[in-house]
Amino acid sequence: MKILTDPIELQHQCLTWRNQGLTIGLVPTMGFLHDGHMSLIDMARPQCDKLVVTLFVNPTQFGENEDLDNYPNDFDGDCAKAEAHGADIVFAPAPDAMYAPDHSTWVNVPPLGTHLCGASRPIHFRGVCTVVTKLFNLVQPTKAVFGQKDWQQLAIIRRMVRDLNIPVEILGHPIVRETDGLALSSRNAYLTEAERAAAPAIRQGLLKLAERVKNGTRDAEAAKHWLVKEYASTLPMGIVDYIELVTPDSIEPVTTISSPTLAAVAIRVGKARLLDNILIEV
Ligand code: AMP
Repeated sequence: MKILTDPIELQHQCLTWRNQGLTIGLVPTMGFLHDGHMSLIDMARPQCDKLVVTLFVNPTQFGENEDLDNYPNDFDGDCAKAEAHGADIVFAPAPDAMYAPDHSTWVNVPPLGTHLCGASRPIHFRGVCTVVTKLFNLVQPTKAVFGQKDWQQLAIIRRMVRDLNIPVEILGHPIVRETDGLALSSRNAYLTEAERAAAPAIRQGLLKLAERVKNGTRDAEAAKHWLVKEYASTLPMGIVDYIELVTPDSIEPVTTISSPTLAAVAIRVGKARLLDNILIEV
């Protein structure tokens, strides 16, 4: 496995492979790899001849006062894991290798980025779309894998790829969880022992909400209100950033739950902002 930091070198290698008729899989990450990331890698590996895993804490998707400077990292551990799971290249550029000082071109998908994470992180998805476009241009992957834990991100990338005719197939991977239901996340490392013990309540609340919908709840406001109260009692240390019910593809809030609906939450627990979601079939 090669470890590359130079975008030009990455592009050159990938162009060579494409010219040889080889297919390339891409798994973009911010590193500190856990079993969720590894499942994405395992999904991509058998579907392509070559596999590129990227480790890049992309500064343009972090707002001021977010955790860019403290984001956890384990470069050697990540490389060992990527190699053990069959990566051909780990690409880990420095920020200034990816962004010229006068970088001035942005990719934005405004309609899908207004709600959920877009509301409290206004520049986040612009940064994500821009860096993912750059990675697509560097790697020219046949397939790229993203996790459903970041459902909104996956929906936005699918829309971007469709709108810009980017020649890549986007694959979504289901959320990988701890045995107690907590979605795996690099940011779980921020949790204290007590916070970690309480955090599975996030998933429990979503499961109960889905059950309520199955039992007849149709009013989205009432459903959200119920979940706010549920978290207040089951996760008192949590601060709700959002609890939303939206259409799964276009991420539009729904008022009446009448077709498949995504219930998505972001909850602050201590220093961590934890995301989770559930697709509710009606
Ligand atoms: P990140 O390093 O957090 O930017 O995540 C990189 C990729 O891994 C994204 O596509 C995430 O959606 C995905 N991912 C992170 N955690 C999980 C998880 N628990 N289950 C499935 N995919 C995940």
